[in-house]
Amino acid sequence: MAVKEATRHILCKDAGYQCEACFKGKNDDRLVIKAVEHMAQYHGASLSPELAAQVRRSIKT
Ligand SMILES: [Zn+2]
Repeated sequence: MAVKEATRHILCKDAGYQCEACFKGKNDDRLVIKAVEHMAQYHGASLSPELAAQVRRSIKT
């Protein structure tokens, strides 16, 4: 029997980008890393603790 775990997600546009990317995962730390790496690679964001904190606050359940 499958246990339904809460999937958490981050929307790239919540960080202020015109982008439909959505990141899903169950582990906040990995999710934040995935999102900020995308923002750096696709949007030229600079990786910083501030960005990571901002992204972490935008996590939705
Ligand atoms: Zn994006």
